Amino acid sequence: MTEANTQPEVNIGLVGHVDHGKTTLVQALSGSWTDQHSEEMKRGISIRLGYADATFRRCPGVDEPECYTVDEECEDGSESEPIRTVSFVDAPGHETLMATMLSGASIMDGAVLVVSATEDVPQAQTEEHLMALDLIGIENIVIAQNKVDLVSRDRAVDNYEQIQEFVEGTVAEDAPIVPVSAQQEVNLDLLIDAVESEIPTPDRDPGESARMYAARSFDINRPGATAEDLKGGVVGGSLVSGELSVGDGLEIRPGREVDEEGQTEWRPLETTVRSLQAGNRDVDTAHPGGLLGVGTGLDPSLTKGDALAGQVAGEPGTLPPTREEFEMTVDLLERVVGKEDDESGESDIEEISTGEPLMLTVGTATTVGAVTSARDGECEVSLKRPVCAEEGAQIAINRRVGARWRLIGVGTLT
Ligand code: GDP
Ligand code: MG
Repeated sequence: MTEANTQPEVNIGLVGHVDHGKTTLVQALSGSWTDQHSEEMKRGISIRLGYADATFRRCPGVDEPECYTVDEECEDGSESEPIRTVSFVDAPGHETLMATMLSGASIMDGAVLVVSATEDVPQAQTEEHLMALDLIGIENIVIAQNKVDLVSRDRAVDNYEQIQEFVEGTVAEDAPIVPVSAQQEVNLDLLIDAVESEIPTPDRDPGESARMYAARSFDINRPGATAEDLKGGVVGGSLVSGELSVGDGLEIRPGREVDEEGQTEWRPLETTVRSLQAGNRDVDTAHPGGLLGVGTGLDPSLTKGDALAGQVAGEPGTLPPTREEFEMTVDLLERVVGKEDDESGESDIEEISTGEPLMLTVGTATTVGAVTSARDGECEVSLKRPVCAEEGAQIAINRRVGARWRLIGVGTLT
């Protein structure tokens, strides 16, 4: 089944309120996989991070949109042709943290917003996630109106109109709304059609230097592995530009914290790419799209337990600087979104003030910083853990409101 093993070329986020059917939809679209390689690595990365690849296919001689399918066999028994492999990035069920969604957003080329037809619109995370897409500027969006099998026709139409009203004036204003049932696999052809036209594969320049955002990192050795069997550390994440090949040099920043005579500093790690796993198979060269597992020559104790999650990897000498503090211009929302009525805390968003703690998402990194100075529309932060980021990088800004970190705005590193 070599076709279905094609490396995905675009990352599509699955966002929306808990229980609205994101995971069910991903399962319906990605179908079953026959994985021959490295079950351990797959279990470690894709299940925890929630990447799932799907190959969209077309049945020859059938009109659009009925021709679209994820099945290899068409209704008339003929074989479908692969069009494109995409990777869905889905937050695991227990992960309703905005931080996860926001760090995922840095690798999303587009998003499917899942809205259940059984509830009023918007529910808390429906609003919060759409606001995040809006702030971060993810413009290629398809809305899946899910669970239409559970409601009457009138209710579905009502709900559809609520969705239309809700997205008015947002980045999803012109997004198609596709009624589906993920569980009953109804209208998946229409959904694929919408994704194909709304979320194209970005134009990419393979000549650009490789840049990978790490989302995970592991020690894949079994306890007690002998020295000669010991495998180097594995870094999992997505390439956002360029290509990476086996044998390439690899720098990872910020790297690791070293303590020398009471002085701590962060030093970049340097290694080589020993193996690459993309689209669930071993490859010699990987390009942006989907989850990439990079086997390195690093001591596995450096990659254990997600130690390198949030870091940036690429060709040595090409990475942005490591910053323990930075300045950013700030664009604040007017009010906190996605807050339930019974939750404590202010709903209006006040200016950022000196001394306050903020949680910042930069690429896939989430870090806490203290504001060292704040002026109108600008602030300076000092970070607990440094980040590797370049000028112009987008930063999601979260403030503690009541019991939770809430998205309050977006910053641009200056
Ligand atoms: P998530 O939290 O958004 O990932 O939601 P899940 O995919 O876990 O779905 C939550 C529940 O809704 C599960 O029990 C699903 O079986 C159910 N569900 C999801 N989609 C549909 C649908 O289209 N129709 C029906 N009847 N149930 C659905
Ligand atoms: Mg889920």
